[in-house]
Amino acid sequence: MSVNQQAHAGPPYGQPQPGYQGYQQPAYGGQSLPGAPQSQYGAYNGPMPGYQQPVPPQGYFPSLGFPSKGSPVSLNSDTSSLAPNFIGSLRAPPTSGAPPPASGASHPSGHVAYSQFEHGDVQNGIPASAAPMQRPPASQPFLPGSAPTPVSQMSTFQQYGPPQASVQQLRNHMAGMTIGSTAASAPPPAGLGYASVPPVSGSFSATGSGLYTPSSASQGPPLTSVSQGLPLAQPPFPGQTIPTQRLPTQVPGFTPPPPSTGVGPSSYPPTTGAPRPPAMPGPPLPGQTVAGPPSSQPNHVSSPPPPSTMAGLHPGPPMSGLHGPPPPTHPPQPGYQMQQNGSFGQMRGPQPNYGGAYPGAPNYGSPPGPPPPPKRLDPDSIPSPIQVIEDDRNNRGSEPFVTGVRGQVPPLVTTNFMVKDQGNASPRYIRCTSYNIPCTSDMAKQSQVPLAAVIKPLATLPPEETLPYLVDHGESGPVRCNRCKAYMCPFMQFIEGGRRFQCCFCSCVTEVPPHYFQHLDHTGKRVDFYDRPELSLGSYEFLATVDYCKNNKFPSPPAFIFMIDVSYNAVKSGLVRLICEELKSLLDYLPREGNMEESAIRVGFVTYNKVLHFYNVKSSLAQPQMMVVSDVADMFVPLLDGFLVNVNESRTVIASLLDQIPEMFADTRETETVFAPVIQAGLEALKAAECAGKLFIFHTSLPIAEAPGKLKNRDDRKLINTDKEKTLFQPQTSFYNNLAKDCVAQGCCVDLFLFPNQYLDVATLGVVPYQTGGSIYKYAYFQLETDQYRFLNDLRRDVQKEVGFDAVMRVRTSTGIRATDFFGAFYMSNTTDVEMAGLDCDKTITVEFKHDDKLSEDSGALLQCALLYTSCAGQRRLRIHNLSLNCCTQLADLYRNCETDTLINYLAKYAYRGVLSSPVKTVRDALINQCAQILACYRKNCASPSSAGQLILPECMKLLPVYLNCVLKSDVLQPGPEVTTDDRAYIRQLVTSMDVAETNVFFYPRLLPLTKADVDSDSLPAAIRNSEERLSKGDIYLLENGLNIFVWVGVNVQQGLIQNLFGVSSFSQISNALSTLPVLENPFSKKVRSIVDMLQGQRSRYMKLIIVKQEDKLEMLFKHFLVEDKSLSGGASYVDFLCHMHKEIRQLLS
Ligand SMILES: [Zn+2]
Repeated sequence: MSVNQQAHAGPPYGQPQPGYQGYQQPAYGGQSLPGAPQSQYGAYNGPMPGYQQPVPPQGYFPSLGFPSKGSPVSLNSDTSSLAPNFIGSLRAPPTSGAPPPASGASHPSGHVAYSQFEHGDVQNGIPASAAPMQRPPASQPFLPGSAPTPVSQMSTFQQYGPPQASVQQLRNHMAGMTIGSTAASAPPPAGLGYASVPPVSGSFSATGSGLYTPSSASQGPPLTSVSQGLPLAQPPFPGQTIPTQRLPTQVPGFTPPPPSTGVGPSSYPPTTGAPRPPAMPGPPLPGQTVAGPPSSQPNHVSSPPPPSTMAGLHPGPPMSGLHGPPPPTHPPQPGYQMQQNGSFGQMRGPQPNYGGAYPGAPNYGSPPGPPPPPKRLDPDSIPSPIQVIEDDRNNRGSEPFVTGVRGQVPPLVTTNFMVKDQGNASPRYIRCTSYNIPCTSDMAKQSQVPLAAVIKPLATLPPEETLPYLVDHGESGPVRCNRCKAYMCPFMQFIEGGRRFQCCFCSCVTEVPPHYFQHLDHTGKRVDFYDRPELSLGSYEFLATVDYCKNNKFPSPPAFIFMIDVSYNAVKSGLVRLICEELKSLLDYLPREGNMEESAIRVGFVTYNKVLHFYNVKSSLAQPQMMVVSDVADMFVPLLDGFLVNVNESRTVIASLLDQIPEMFADTRETETVFAPVIQAGLEALKAAECAGKLFIFHTSLPIAEAPGKLKNRDDRKLINTDKEKTLFQPQTSFYNNLAKDCVAQGCCVDLFLFPNQYLDVATLGVVPYQTGGSIYKYAYFQLETDQYRFLNDLRRDVQKEVGFDAVMRVRTSTGIRATDFFGAFYMSNTTDVEMAGLDCDKTITVEFKHDDKLSEDSGALLQCALLYTSCAGQRRLRIHNLSLNCCTQLADLYRNCETDTLINYLAKYAYRGVLSSPVKTVRDALINQCAQILACYRKNCASPSSAGQLILPECMKLLPVYLNCVLKSDVLQPGPEVTTDDRAYIRQLVTSMDVAETNVFFYPRLLPLTKADVDSDSLPAAIRNSEERLSKGDIYLLENGLNIFVWVGVNVQQGLIQNLFGVSSFSQISNALSTLPVLENPFSKKVRSIVDMLQGQRSRYMKLIIVKQEDKLEMLFKHFLVEDKSLSGGASYVDFLCHMHKEIRQLLS
């Protein structure tokens, strides 16, 4: 057997390059190729008539060439007829024998001319240089047209009423939440997950929790939280006085409500007698940023302020700014009614039903009158994820996000928006924890805000957005900086009349190759600026030359190998038959490039239990042939010719094989399986074929059969909460790490579909999929009836989705910062290159940056992500994403330009990696501590002075506590009793590749009241917060987190609704064995099913549907996802956790 002898660390692509290992710097030939005029760009998916399929690599041996080990077996069933699925006529055979595409010449002809590029849309020119003028350092107006927001927009602030855009903007002014310390809110000490947090030693004592006062002076920076689209043209700095016109504006919309960020119930009308923060009354002083009248954030207010306390404080009344007319005396204010879900605004009185939910927690701000229930923090008074999401949708969902401005914070991932690329990569490709980076390392350390980018290089774009253009520079390849090898991009500066350019990353000056020369206009811009994607766009692709290919050879098209477990459990469950049936039709949908007639991907088939069976499906055979390899200790591939075939050519033989496999193993009694040899077999097959590819492995059990990579059951729940818990996440042998390394070197990506009935050690089996950039799917206790639909949907999507092979990604940065850490499913053989055997459109890599020098506000900071990969047709390409960020000398600017969703993505991945090496409790404590430091730094340096007892949160991070709590109580960090070791390992790996939208809904699920849905519209019902107290017994709800969809039915739901949705006449008749909703012909059923379908369509995996009846046993599972509540496993409620964070912060400040 020939193991890959090539040291992985060696330069995989041609000769070693000093600057960029593995990438050879192309020579600049100086002449354009005949077939490749300079402006000949093609649309990424453009037609490619001229592209011919390269010849399959030669060198196969006849299948009989290994008589000693494999013995050919002729399958003897009469399946020569075509399967029904293959009715269509065979397509013409591929042009075998055609030479591999010559660089440059064969590709471009079919591409859409680049003239389609909309010149008119490009307005901003090079963002880097233009930035200072376009965007004031501190504020980031969301300007669709890239022009500063006209003052006229200010008028919107004057409107009263429901939160429209203007109102939302007002809220943004609210920077801080103040929580008075006096009230004792102490949640019950016992059972909280963070009891051990160092500073606090475990219990939440009453200390911090009490009153919330509206932060008077706007805690600083918040005034303009740009990220939310505040149209203010001038960024308010702390220390600046706010333009007078703003004051009035803030008030109107929210009369009664509490200060925007005033988290707390309390202060706002300090019911408990807490002293009012000094700063409150009075006009804003210079040096204070008035963040708007405290009144602007309805959602944080909980109870109506008692009149007496109002003096001076009330946030409310219009125009008054801080001291306006007396606040409304009573709860719900008419003006707020609009907020339907009760998640904000209303001063909700205590909830009778749930009053006792948080024993020990004081109830703040209960309305006068009825006997006050036990005091507790009113959940309505603390920052609401639902409100933040809603506000962003209202503010930013209607205008396209134009990327021409440096350091612009994009809309939230939960907002639907369109992107126009004008020089920076779309947020669909890159999102950052902050779009304004501290200039110095000291500042960054002080803030503790991690600087990270979440990159999804092959992200799928909505149909209305343009895919990256493909640029072909012919044989000379892409133009790059001589020193750092950065690729030509909009931030490079052309000098000396265009003869040279200065690198925006390393400042080195490089000659412009003659064929690339172009004159500059009077502004110093190349006159072909708008004709070249690499000069005017944030994202684009280059056609790679042979220098970017392994062994200086253009790659062959990749192959897919389907490897099916045919042991007893797999056969008996019907899985084997299901897979074979599905493949018959699915093979017609292999990924194709552009509008090529057929996929270039070849396919192969293996079945296995303790031994492996290879199949010869060569088109010339009448019947498929099977070759058995029983010596799994030294895996080899017994046949080469006929193993990997073109689907159309071998259609008949493949169909016959897929018909026969279930029959051949129908009576198997073999229960043991091997696993590592299966991967080795696929790897060897790809090596022999000299191509990259993907293995689809369908596996059912712990591989205990004698073979390399054999595993034992080492699951031990007693290790939970001990120092050895980390071993549950670690592979039990290093064998798979080495195997993964070999796979990556070959471009062999592994996708693993697991169907376990018991522990099968996901932590170990997942190593190869994980390190090769593959995916893992798990269907525990797989049952054909209930799970096949989900599995088949996942399989179809997985087979069809866009994927690049043999990928290497490098992130370059401008001087001052550099990429220091990486999170995701990949392999790294050095400190800079992220290698992935396969990278699909769903995979994300999170990259952390650290300072290595000072940055300057003028030049900002630049990122360039370059991904070299092989397309599904075997074309070698480079995809480039560029992003420019601002730099700041004021911490307030950092906090004003953060994105909490991205921060959580980073923190979760950081923590989930941490459990491999540290006790889980240590990881949790570190997370809490870091976030407390982030918030304490804000409080100390950015918020205006106020009483120490106030909790003040930066506007852009006001959801950090609630989301962080969700991460802390997730199954990986704090498992409940029902969570298995395999579940935890599985989730840990899943989360590591998630993008920001996925982590957002995974940690804070979406909860929709279905009974509130408007059956006549396409819209979703307004989401509500994830807490049991938001549920009504008379309603039906849907909760989704990206993996599951729960439909929860209250005990008092009207019989008619039950009949319409489930087709049964009473609550008790609803079956929770349903895995889909019945198809019934009535508007409610149709509406609910359309919502479910829509949600399924938004996620990369098909979610499992679970019906939950209130008070049924499954409800415990459902409640696990009501993440604002205290969890069974000891996770704190949101309210309790917020109090805890407050205490942590106070300790840091004192
Ligand atoms: Zn450079």
